Amino acid sequence: MATGPERREGMQADHTVHPNTAVVHAGHFVTPVNEGASPPLYQAAAYRFRDLAQVEEIYAGNVPSAIYGRYGGPNGAQFAGAIAELEGAQSAFASANGMSAIDAALATNLPVGAALVATRDIYGGTYELLMHEYAAPRAQVTFVDQSNCAEVEAALIRTQARVLYTEALTNPLMGVADIDALAAITKRLGVLLIIDATFASPALIQPLAHGADLVVHSVTKYLGGHGDVGAGVVAGREELIAPIREHLIRTGATVAHFDAWLATRGLRTLGLRMERHSSNANRVAAYLASVPAVLRVHHPSLASHAQHELAKRLYPQGTGGMLAFDLAGGRDGVDRFLRGLRRIAIVHSLGEVATTIGYSAVSSHRGLPAQLREELGVTDGTLRLSVGIEHCDDIIADLAQGFRS
Ligand code: PLP
Repeated sequence: MATGPERREGMQADHTVHPNTAVVHAGHFVTPVNEGASPPLYQAAAYRFRDLAQVEEIYAGNVPSAIYGRYGGPNGAQFAGAIAELEGAQSAFASANGMSAIDAALATNLPVGAALVATRDIYGGTYELLMHEYAAPRAQVTFVDQSNCAEVEAALIRTQARVLYTEALTNPLMGVADIDALAAITKRLGVLLIIDATFASPALIQPLAHGADLVVHSVTKYLGGHGDVGAGVVAGREELIAPIREHLIRTGATVAHFDAWLATRGLRTLGLRMERHSSNANRVAAYLASVPAVLRVHHPSLASHAQHELAKRLYPQGTGGMLAFDLAGGRDGVDRFLRGLRRIAIVHSLGEVATTIGYSAVSSHRGLPAQLREELGVTDGTLRLSVGIEHCDDIIADLAQGFRS
């Protein structure tokens, strides 16, 4: 039974207008005085104002309100607020996707001609963003090996960089950034440290607590968690988030209401999902390391990983579901293996509940020169596995099926 009137007292059908006018205005949405037990979706593209006094009040930001979809709605604000809480940040703002969050963080902190130092083994899309949008004369980009602090510091000093950009866990080879050590350098030099923590999520690490200035995420991945969201988010001090918010509004790259609503729902199970992603990935990494056709497994849980000890310190709960491995036989070996898989689909995204696999050479790292790709360690045999939350025996059985083919 409805608890409110479907037709408000005094709202009679208006017979003075044409039916085509009546249908445009019929019905009235009543915002209940008590909240929904779960957040409602506010899909409105714009909001009404009672009068000009209310316009002034709302534009001045004196009352919780909304103006226009692109400025951000209640669902985007709820999601960003949740991320600020989880990251221990003063403020956060959600964007249309991970790339717009990264771009906003860079655009607002790199004046024209300024220098940026970035880790070499970043997500291919970010590499392309840097090379196409931030290459000279817009900015000066220098790539370094983030595991070599002396090299990072020397590059920051030599280029008089404004920003150091890195990934908490790198895509796809699972390099582990020593955020404490990098933050000690950037603080000493007055450089801004931006960390993309997409692979880890705030369930596993809060980069701001380790000294980073801004943390960005592709929400499309673990935060959404179900492969049905396209969004991004950036969190940090309000003085840094305010210009990012304005930039995202001006460039029309704020989060869509429905995606923010889905992402908030996804967030509810983030802790449980990351626990299972992490434990499954540890088991799968150990299994892969025992397969003769696998030349190398890139996963911090393995003692063979260069930052195994660092990962244990920074990620006591595990490092999530991502890992990479190099298969013998190059592209042909990869092709045979992929054809043999039954349930694990070739998907060029990651972080959803189902296990998926990607071939970085033709997807995320497609835009990189082949030589650079090889130098980074992304070879023709490198596969990136996003280990899901299924029963681990079934994931391993499917991989074994691939190796038999
Ligand atoms: N950062 C990382 C580490 C990623 O893996 C990706 C996408 O794969 C992005 C950022 C970009 O995110 P989006 O596709 O949501 O723009």
